[in-house]
Amino acid sequence: MPDAPATDRVGFVGLGRMGAPMVRRLAAGGVTVRGHDAASGVAEGLADVLAPVPRAAAAAEGSPVVILMLPDSGVVEKVVDGGLLDALAPGALLVDMSTSEPLRTRALAERVAGCGATLVDAPVSGGVAGAEAGTLTIMVGGPGDAVERLRPLLALMGRVRHVGGTGAGHAVKALNNLLSASHLLATSEAILAGERFGLNPTTMLDAINGSSGRSGSTETKWPTHIVPGTYASGFTAGLMVKDLRIALGLAEAVDAPRGHAARTLALWSRAIDTLGPGADHTEIARWLRERPEEDQ
Ligand code: NAD
Repeated sequence: MPDAPATDRVGFVGLGRMGAPMVRRLAAGGVTVRGHDAASGVAEGLADVLAPVPRAAAAAEGSPVVILMLPDSGVVEKVVDGGLLDALAPGALLVDMSTSEPLRTRALAERVAGCGATLVDAPVSGGVAGAEAGTLTIMVGGPGDAVERLRPLLALMGRVRHVGGTGAGHAVKALNNLLSASHLLATSEAILAGERFGLNPTTMLDAINGSSGRSGSTETKWPTHIVPGTYASGFTAGLMVKDLRIALGLAEAVDAPRGHAARTLALWSRAIDTLGPGADHTEIARWLRERPEEDQ
């Protein structure tokens, strides 16, 4: 028997809405997982698919690959500096699959390299349903050899897109969500104008989906979550605002045009002031429908 590939043992930190189903995919693919989450009982609740460990550092010990699926860059840095960095094995791959900030990712990669390990950023798109089905789009930034080593492991969770060097995955993810948030706002304004003109939203969407205005918002979000009024995409408005802030911060840092991004963020921020950050992001359409024009 040949030796098992080194990516068959993984430490996994952050077992929330996304992390838990991703671990299930890894376990189903034959990967041995040591898992940690700060919330008590969460890792233990997944004991059928992982070995629960009490600290992030313990997830890294003896693991050639450590995956992070945490809320944001601040938490990622806290976990890395809270003992994980010292526990990384030489040559280990630290994979940040959270939606983090690309410039902070580059800075963190230098410190990880200083310890003889490699940071790869691999944020995802596709939501909880994609995590459960193993159909996430995984936007990967990092050195080619490290990405190739990770490819079979990542392929258990979705489609791998190697988009550039360190930080590139986090940049593409945030910029993708700038587009997604923009499309949803624009679609919602268009459909609401049509409604007030007396048109049927479903009839409009059917025509638009055969025309140049189509997008994920016209093809999926409006028909599946907004027209039936279920608002259950699984992705919160608060996370969308976080991603918009990352995209705008990136555009500012490289001095790119950003008037549209700034206005999009301002509208989404006003929406979560009313809806709350835990609202489903598709509720932006409901918010627009219920707000007086002058508040928008
Ligand atoms: P979540 O809040 O459900 O899960 C995060 C987990 O991290 C929680 O279980 C929490 O207890 C744990 N955690 C927080 N601080 C910790 C610490 N210091 N040490 C260990 N564990 C800690 O979030 P999620 O929806 O799973 O999202 C995770 C990441 O994926 C975010 O960056 C998010 O933007 C991104 N994302 C989410 C979705 C989605 O649909 N939910 C889609 C794509 C990307």
